[in-house]
Amino acid sequence: MPDSALPPLVFATRNANKVLEVHALLGNAYQLLSLDGIGCADELPETGDTLEHNAREKAAYVHERWGLDVFAEDSGLLVRALNDEPGVYSARYAGPQASDADNKALLLARLAGKQDREARFRTVISLCFSGEWHLFQGECRGVIGLAPAGEGGFGYDPLFYPMLHSGLSQRTFAQMSREEKNAISHRGQAVRALVRFLESRAGKSALPT
Ligand code: IMP
Repeated sequence: MPDSALPPLVFATRNANKVLEVHALLGNAYQLLSLDGIGCADELPETGDTLEHNAREKAAYVHERWGLDVFAEDSGLLVRALNDEPGVYSARYAGPQASDADNKALLLARLAGKQDREARFRTVISLCFSGEWHLFQGECRGVIGLAPAGEGGFGYDPLFYPMLHSGLSQRTFAQMSREEKNAISHRGQAVRALVRFLESRAGKSALPT
């Protein structure tokens, strides 16, 4: 049950998994609300050509209408040999109705015959807190494989071999547990940076020990 005595904080998303992920890291210092939690049924605008633009646009939409502290995130895959495509268009790379399979197939086709397979995932989180704007980021470097491997995750996970401290992973994100991926992923890094900030503002530890 939400605790209404806590300060409300909106995560401008409809993705229940993402809300759970942030909630697990954030602890109980805030009342974390999704778009459904504030009764927002609107399609949020995402009209920019950068992750920063879209994240802020979504958060601003909610802040202007509900007047609450709010954050939004935007993520994408940037492939070096493709001039950082698909980037902000990652979800709809192969078209507006594209499935993950369509997007992965297009990416492999565009990379066919290219030696350079380097890529990175990026996440940007835009937070409006007490009327001030803050930006948090995460990035995970890696390599695009020649064919999908693994059943887990979503999106481009079966094609992405992340770079670890020890060198290139032998497994894609789709072959890792959720915890393993979160520990190194772009989104995990950005969320942890957000949580550290919120923790400092709440005046008590929100990060699990
Ligand atoms: P979102 O902004 O987090 O919804 O991500 C936009 C798109 O980027 C997704 O639909 C995926 O295609 C891609 N993407 C973002 N993060 C990941 C990830 O962690 N794994 C695989 N694909 C991702």
